[in-house]
Amino acid sequence: MSTHPLFIDNLAFAKKNEHLEGSLSLAECPRLSELLQAAETNQASKDDASKTEAAVHYVLQGQTDSVGQHYLHLTLTTNLTTTCQRCLNAMPLNLALNYNYLIGDVNLNDMEASDIEDSDDIDLQEASQTMDIIALIEDEIIMAMPIAPIHDKDCGAIVTQSGEKPNPFAALKGLIKP
Ligand SMILES: [Zn+2]
Repeated sequence: MSTHPLFIDNLAFAKKNEHLEGSLSLAECPRLSELLQAAETNQASKDDASKTEAAVHYVLQGQTDSVGQHYLHLTLTTNLTTTCQRCLNAMPLNLALNYNYLIGDVNLNDMEASDIEDSDDIDLQEASQTMDIIALIEDEIIMAMPIAPIHDKDCGAIVTQSGEKPNPFAALKGLIKP
């Protein structure tokens, strides 16, 4: 297991069909961790554990196809905790994500336009000898996170900012003598 931070020569990685697999904890993903902070403070007792336990599992596979184009395939699965925007309780956020990157050392003019159109889920990445894999993983998860996550199932009453207003007559009740 290599030590973090994690940098690869993405072109060499694809040329050699290399494979990289591992787990990241939230402590290794500070930007992602920040987004999840609200949820973590709700369960302070579990905070230490959730910081160190694996939150993201990744698989990175390099590939060179028959016409010599270089690809990276990234698979991410997450086991995160966010805050439900309806009930404001902690909510598990399990994502299963797949990304395909074409490493852009190719002259785009040489590529058939149809190559790109056929594969609409391919992103371009610049060739780099120090591609930051953790930053890439963090970026992808942050972009994949729902803006307003809510539980799939009905999780009860909507919690409003003001809460239920007290009955103004309730206070008077004690004052009225029979
Ligand atoms: Zn909820």
